[in-house]
Amino acid sequence: MFLIKNSIESCNMDQYKVRFINYPKQYRLLKKEIDKAIFGCLEKGDFILRDDVKQFEKNVASFLGTKFAIGVNCGTDALFFSSLISGLKRNDEVITVAHTYVASVAAVVHCGAKPVLIDVGEDMNMNADFIEESITEKTKAIMPVHLNGRMCNMRKIMKIANEHGLLVIEDAAQAWGAKFDGKNAGSFGFAGCFSMYPAKIFGAYGDAGVIATNDEMLNEQARIWRDGGRKNKQEVTCFGYNSLLDNLQAAVLNVKFKRLPRWIERRREIARQYNNGLSDLQQLKLPPAPTKIGDYFDVFQNYVVRCKQRDALEKHLNNKGIETMVSWRIPLHKQKDLGLQSFNLPKTEKVSSEVLSLPLYPELTNEQVNYVIKCVRSFY
Ligand SMILES: *Cc1c(COP(=O)(O)O)cnc(C)c1O
Repeated sequence: MFLIKNSIESCNMDQYKVRFINYPKQYRLLKKEIDKAIFGCLEKGDFILRDDVKQFEKNVASFLGTKFAIGVNCGTDALFFSSLISGLKRNDEVITVAHTYVASVAAVVHCGAKPVLIDVGEDMNMNADFIEESITEKTKAIMPVHLNGRMCNMRKIMKIANEHGLLVIEDAAQAWGAKFDGKNAGSFGFAGCFSMYPAKIFGAYGDAGVIATNDEMLNEQARIWRDGGRKNKQEVTCFGYNSLLDNLQAAVLNVKFKRLPRWIERRREIARQYNNGLSDLQQLKLPPAPTKIGDYFDVFQNYVVRCKQRDALEKHLNNKGIETMVSWRIPLHKQKDLGLQSFNLPKTEKVSSEVLSLPLYPELTNEQVNYVIKCVRSFY
């Protein structure tokens, strides 16, 4: 029985008409260039901190318009190093959100500091109106998380940060290419932290991340902390970590870098198609359609719809061969083992019970998008 059940399950896996993400399809489209980049590294023996990493850092800084970019092992480490080097210590407080991937809050906790979690707004990002009431003498920083490819309201956040002398560490892991008021995500604060996890808009073939900054001290220290605390071959200035951006991953990312503007345009096009096909369904809340005017330039890392019957819709779509994702079913302050239960975040809890991400990536065909639209409609 066991065997039969397993084989049915694995068979079902392959019957997805629309996968939530399709790595092999993207690879096949880029195969020639990717293979050349990877085999080039193998031929030259370029594995650790070689030219591809330097080129990647140049690409990132020039795109974002920051002075520096420092490649690290992952987005989690980008957040942690930025928090650590910002000078966060025991008992300091950092204002951030619970509706995020755990790494944002973990970065604060690993510095011994205390995360102060505030609620999100209708766009599922930090509600800046709750920041000032949460500031105490111990508050040192604000960590906005630009979720799903849409930025937080940085006009309000930067204004409050400047008035209160707080550092801003942006979790821009889901916001490569997103803009607020014409300015790139990750270029506003002390540090902009990106993840190049494979499923991210600018994804590698494994873990990767980068810190963007205009701060010379952060640039210098991050390079030391990521490399075992070594300032150069002889001098060790702290007990650092080994968190280098893999040179092979950098070579892959440099190939993808040129494609990003087109990929982001395609993401926005698909979002527009979803909005056009679904906007008349009263029971479904959609993200704002992408526009060229206004404060927000959204890049749709995820296309997240909200509805009361989320679990039933999820099941319906999965049965139709459409793979979906829920981020996140249990908000961080409801995770029993994290010790964050004291926060009262009704909007975050409501959002967690309603969110469902539909497939959205550049390689989706219009037929697939239309099929998803048709299946969502057939649920109602
Ligand atoms: C992906 C992600 C991270 C962590 O990035 P990794 O590269 O996986 O370590 C942090 N914050 C958010 C919001 C993310 O989506």
